[in-house]
Amino acid sequence: MRHARFFVFTLAGLALPLLDGNAGIQLVDIKSVDPTIVVELRYGGRNNLTGRPLYPFGTPALVRPEVASRLATAQAFLRHYQYGLKIWDAYRPPSVQVKLWQAAHNNDYVANPAIGAGSLHSWGVAVDATLVDAWDRPVRMPSDFDDFTPAAMWRYTGADPAIRSHVHLLQIVMRNAGFWGLRTEWWHFTITDWPKYLPPDKAKTAAQVFGTRWEGKL
Ligand SMILES: [Zn+2]
Repeated sequence: MRHARFFVFTLAGLALPLLDGNAGIQLVDIKSVDPTIVVELRYGGRNNLTGRPLYPFGTPALVRPEVASRLATAQAFLRHYQYGLKIWDAYRPPSVQVKLWQAAHNNDYVANPAIGAGSLHSWGVAVDATLVDAWDRPVRMPSDFDDFTPAAMWRYTGADPAIRSHVHLLQIVMRNAGFWGLRTEWWHFTITDWPKYLPPDKAKTAAQVFGTRWEGKL
């Protein structure tokens, strides 16, 4: 990790006027910090709620450097248990957030890009993550990505002990690495000190919007 090459993406060209406050944020490729973390950006292919790719082919999983180092911490811990992380989504350009909002139109699950700071994915401080086994194969989890049903709730209420232990392991490891969860999406994690990475006015409005939704922390 000490030798990771950080590089800066200038996002001014991607930012919409309503979110121009996040232009120029510093982002790093998760793979450059920990190449053992599996990346499968679901919005980079057809296997998502829109049925089409929303990212250009080969788009890396980008986050703020502070997020990448916490993911590496979580990954190191998971490897002790013969598991690892798979990233389903990371930095999400505001333009893509608009497309998702239009496709889903359900603010319990998709942040309205026109309210407050929009999605915290668009600030590089949130990731969507699941578990893989020691051979990077998927393991059974409570639901698929972007499953907008009660099965996606943070608190698993099903009867499968394997699924329960998997989701609990993911939650505990991510909490210990410095992330909070989200009540309605077991796969969504935001760094606990996310407000300090947003301009103060955006952080304040985001806290108001997300205040009732940030109940997923253990
Ligand atoms: Zn998310």
